[in-house]
Amino acid sequence: MVLPGLVEGHIHLDKGFIGDTWKPHRPCTAGFSVRERVAFEKEALAKAKPVPVRAAAMIDLCVAHGTSHMRSHVDIDPDFGLSNLEHIVAMRDAHKHKVSIQIVAFPQSGIVTAPGTRDLLDAAVRNGADLIGGLDPAGFDGDITGHLDAVFDIAARHGVGIDIHLHDGGLLGVFEIEEIARRTKALGLGGKVTISHAYALGEVPRDVVLRVAGRLAEAGVAILTNAPGHHAFPPVLTLHDAGVTVFGGNDNIRDSWWPYGDGDLIERAMIIGNRSGFFTDAELALAFNMVTSHGAKALRLDNYGLVEGGAADFVVLDAEHIQELVVTRPKARDVYKAGRLVARNGQIVAA
Ligand SMILES: [Zn+2]
Repeated sequence: MVLPGLVEGHIHLDKGFIGDTWKPHRPCTAGFSVRERVAFEKEALAKAKPVPVRAAAMIDLCVAHGTSHMRSHVDIDPDFGLSNLEHIVAMRDAHKHKVSIQIVAFPQSGIVTAPGTRDLLDAAVRNGADLIGGLDPAGFDGDITGHLDAVFDIAARHGVGIDIHLHDGGLLGVFEIEEIARRTKALGLGGKVTISHAYALGEVPRDVVLRVAGRLAEAGVAILTNAPGHHAFPPVLTLHDAGVTVFGGNDNIRDSWWPYGDGDLIERAMIIGNRSGFFTDAELALAFNMVTSHGAKALRLDNYGLVEGGAADFVVLDAEHIQELVVTRPKARDVYKAGRLVARNGQIVAA
């Protein structure tokens, strides 16, 4: 089979320990806390190998599995400013013959509660970030309006897209999702806004999901999920049927947040399908589309797909059809970027 290049909708190139030694997971002291995880991560990354070493290893791992495009969130933080961004911008250029990379300026330590971050995010967009990120306006920053004002102001001023991490659950999360949809519509940013995770949609009744789905579809807000193994996540099929662009990504790969992940988007499609209860051929095809055409739509990729005049980013492997591919996840793959072979059987072949 020949597939279009796989689209990694959500990854953190600056966080992984691929290319470094194994780091045992450190659990939260009393129940899961994003704030404590951020603190633990800072301690762990301070002792890890430099960002360029670890990010290069993760890029090669993903490319070897067939990834042609990725959207990487990059931490922007008052402690280290734009240094991670500068590294990943340099890597985007150095590795562009293998993969095209979009960068989201991600306020991992919040905006309202991390003074100086708003200006840093603005500077990040002026220094190579393609999108502006956000993080739990209520749950992390305790200020929905303040947080979203900062994010949408920067996006509107610079004409860039938005991709917000939203773990806030239940009706609080739903309120934030609808507020993001409302602002997206008001500012005419349809097609340029993503909510990553949107756990709340996996926790509320179906009638609420259907109401929110209608608003997301109308506003042009996409939903990203990695179908995390430990948490409720959005009902993919319901959102898709309502006209919402739903796409997939690996998110954290072997980092301080969790030890799992190998960068394989076909494996991720299987996990999404498995956790969603996808059995029919149409459902398996949806799981596959989430790491290909749906991702391409959300990332606004030009010339995507196996079409005349397309970008010639493709993967060759052994499978009868898409459904068998999602189920069997064959690892032997030839990966081409812009018509050139860049990886074969898990190894990068082009410098
Ligand atoms: Zn993330």
